[in-house]
Amino acid sequence: MQKREFYEPVDAAVMPRFSDIPTFMRLPVFRDPSLLDIALIGVPWDGGTTNRAGARHGPREIRNMSSFVRRVHPVTKISPFELARIGDLGDVPVNPINVSDTLIRIERVFGKVHQAGAMPLTAGGDHLTTLPIFRAIAGAEPVGMVHFDAHSDTWDTYFGGEKYTHGTPFRRAVEEGLLDPKRTIQIGIRGSLYSAVDMDYAASVGIRVVAIEEFAELGVDAVIEEARRVVGTGPTYVSFDVDGLDPAYAPGTGTPEIGGFSTLEAQRMIRGLRGLNLVGGDVVEVSPPFDPSGNTALVGATMMFELLCILAEAVAGRRSAAGAGSR
Ligand code: MN
Ligand code: MN
Repeated sequence: MQKREFYEPVDAAVMPRFSDIPTFMRLPVFRDPSLLDIALIGVPWDGGTTNRAGARHGPREIRNMSSFVRRVHPVTKISPFELARIGDLGDVPVNPINVSDTLIRIERVFGKVHQAGAMPLTAGGDHLTTLPIFRAIAGAEPVGMVHFDAHSDTWDTYFGGEKYTHGTPFRRAVEEGLLDPKRTIQIGIRGSLYSAVDMDYAASVGIRVVAIEEFAELGVDAVIEEARRVVGTGPTYVSFDVDGLDPAYAPGTGTPEIGGFSTLEAQRMIRGLRGLNLVGGDVVEVSPPFDPSGNTALVGATMMFELLCILAEAVAGRRSAAGAGSR
């Protein structure tokens, strides 16, 4: 067991926030996931993107903007770096010109992370990234999911039969038995459809869809309550597509849809997931070429910190349930 100092972010009082090498949250880089409770991982890949590309550049810009993140959550007072061993595991070595090879490469890296006992928190990458993560971490029991997005991502195929795109990961995940649709809630769904039956699949398998109109009607607290009811006590993953936010807050994304929730509403919803049986999370679809101010990358980094706080609390909770000294 390494000393606590080994897992400390760079001290902003020593090395200014704008300086030195940008890692996630200014943490040290690790190549061995067995040294970590939570591995921050980049997947610089947009091979599943159907419209505007650029999410392959997401991890690097999120790392850069994550230098704004400080140590302690302002509302919950969680200090994730006190609760868990957290580090930057670097990027998955993707193959930018081959989708199926990249799916294998992502699954391989996350498989090692999972086997090492570390929980992944990922910066995408487009949303197809989540499918091979599920292949790596879903055990005998499929995971449940709290999914923030403008899109359901449960379409069947694109371009005459392509099954692996960022519009299809969750239909594939249900088909492959990785994702329990009855323990899945999608929040923020909106935007024009290809056809009036586009949302039928999600309904037919029992996914709870909270379209943005229902979100606006219910409000944040009731939606949190509904999410907690849907996912229950089983293993739960949180997937945050930045296009779930209104493009006023997150314009730098490939498939923007107006009329979304705000950054503060999203932060409050993530905080509302404290105490769930969390097994990982991701922030996807940050596309720096469409993000000249860098604000969408800042949003992505901040949402990662929100997720990191609740994941670290889950790690600490499991450790104390397993008895003192298990680390
Ligand atoms: Mn998505
Ligand atoms: Mn989306």
